[in-house]
Amino acid sequence: MVLSNGKLGACWSYVYAVQCKECLKWRRIPTQEVFEGIRANATKDPFVCNKKLEVTCDDPADIEYDSSRTWVIDKPDVPKTPPGFIREVILRKDFSKMDAHYITPEGKRLRSSVEAATFLEEHPEYNQTISIADFSFITPKVMSETIPKDYVRKLGIEKKIVKQNGKKLFGSA
Ligand SMILES: [Zn+2]
Repeated sequence: MVLSNGKLGACWSYVYAVQCKECLKWRRIPTQEVFEGIRANATKDPFVCNKKLEVTCDDPADIEYDSSRTWVIDKPDVPKTPPGFIREVILRKDFSKMDAHYITPEGKRLRSSVEAATFLEEHPEYNQTISIADFSFITPKVMSETIPKDYVRKLGIEKKIVKQNGKKLFGSA
């Protein structure tokens, strides 16, 4: 998963990309759903270019791994989001890490495996279709070398201000 060129303070939008096992080029994946399907089977069925229509390993990469975007790299084999649920991963303001949560069809937010287990206990109507194994709170790794340089500088300055004033100006959300 790649975070596109969002400016500081603006909303980040996601671009999904996967790396071909054969040629190591990155291919853009149009939707979160398709991306999640590839990710869920990443170990037993690794992605190769020709799984994408009309693309082969000889074609140029769709996107390059560089610092023009901030990259976050997903762990393989995260289960597909259960139907009707929404899985969101949010980058912390200080770029330190991402947090994952699910939104249930009822609009309830689940922030941990414990909350997911409690939700399933309280909603036996899902017992036939989903289990706790369908939830994963594993988040992608933020690739530090792709964090915007001007942001890193700003972060450094703010950390100094925090030290001087002894106040917490900057914290994880
Ligand atoms: Zn390839």
